[in-house]
Amino acid sequence: MRIEHLYFHFPFCATICPYCGFYVTIGKRKDIALLTEALIREVEILKGYYSLDPKTVYIGGGTPSLAKSEEITQLLSILSKENLQELTIEANPRTISEQKAAEWKEAGVNRVSIGAQSMNEQDLLILGRRHKPKDVADSVHLLRKAGIENINLDFIFGIPGQDLQSLKQSLQMALDLAPSHLSLYCLTYEENTPFFKALQEGKFRCDEQKEIEMIYEATDLLTKHGFIHYEISNFALPGYKSLHNQAYWQGKDYLGIGPSACSTVGTKRWKNVADHSLYVQAVKEGRLAIAEMESLDEESKNKEKIFLGLRTDQGVAISHFDQKEREIIQWLVFEGLGRTVGDRFVLTPRGLLVADSIALYFMN
Ligand code: SF4
Repeated sequence: MRIEHLYFHFPFCATICPYCGFYVTIGKRKDIALLTEALIREVEILKGYYSLDPKTVYIGGGTPSLAKSEEITQLLSILSKENLQELTIEANPRTISEQKAAEWKEAGVNRVSIGAQSMNEQDLLILGRRHKPKDVADSVHLLRKAGIENINLDFIFGIPGQDLQSLKQSLQMALDLAPSHLSLYCLTYEENTPFFKALQEGKFRCDEQKEIEMIYEATDLLTKHGFIHYEISNFALPGYKSLHNQAYWQGKDYLGIGPSACSTVGTKRWKNVADHSLYVQAVKEGRLAIAEMESLDEESKNKEKIFLGLRTDQGVAISHFDQKEREIIQWLVFEGLGRTVGDRFVLTPRGLLVADSIALYFMN
């Protein structure tokens, strides 16, 4: 079976941000080297089951830009590049050097996603980030110098203390750097994080109304600057939509490689063990490090397709909806929250703001 989309999970970071809910740990040099070897080994094991012919590769984390560029080069050297269209690496500001950027480019990286989060110093302090806004600008310049033009900036809104004005200023500073793509996520309070504890203790407060206003204004600003709002949290200039993320949203098969990475192939979904030592040990012994596996029936795959599709500007083919659901569609169209485009149902910009609530109508 041919697999066209690969995700690598690199679970190491320089420090752990107080809001982070991912499987990440502080990375020591030795662990990074062992992990790189293990990722390569897992690819070799997977090649025994699947034909890997990647169109998109995404190296995420964590902070994969902490790895030496020769480690990234070594990892990428074992993949076929024949049909490769998009090769993204996530990077944190302050972890990119001129040499690293040039070597990534040489290894085939053509897209970098920078964890900017904000261009406001106070926001970055609250988020526990070590970088300053200037580091984001420096990273963008280094990547451009190396010839990497496709640059995403990740942003967070709803940060404690952030107001609408500071979000807009932050985004304007980002726009001045001319990225090709922007991801804008609402801060979530993940269980077992210091931020979650602060929320429980009443030190932080969620203000849903303010968050809706923020995403509304941010969308307005970005679309006025030529960005297409193509997924609830993602904005791209024409020609720069993320191919890798679109593959997820369209329900394509993908393999996740590395500790805690998820894979979905056909009706099977599995997750690797969320422990880098156990992961390294398993693949060293020639085994896949699968911790959980589930079978997806047609109904749950269809529901997932609807849930993910509604969050995008491509919407969902009307053939995916049953009679009862088509009545809901009619009501959403009447309310101005959705519209039909050819044979697809797509949410309007107003509907997109409440996409997750709308999706619930179709999940039950
Ligand atoms: S840099 Fe990203 S992945 Fe690492 S701890 Fe912070 S939020 Fe989590």
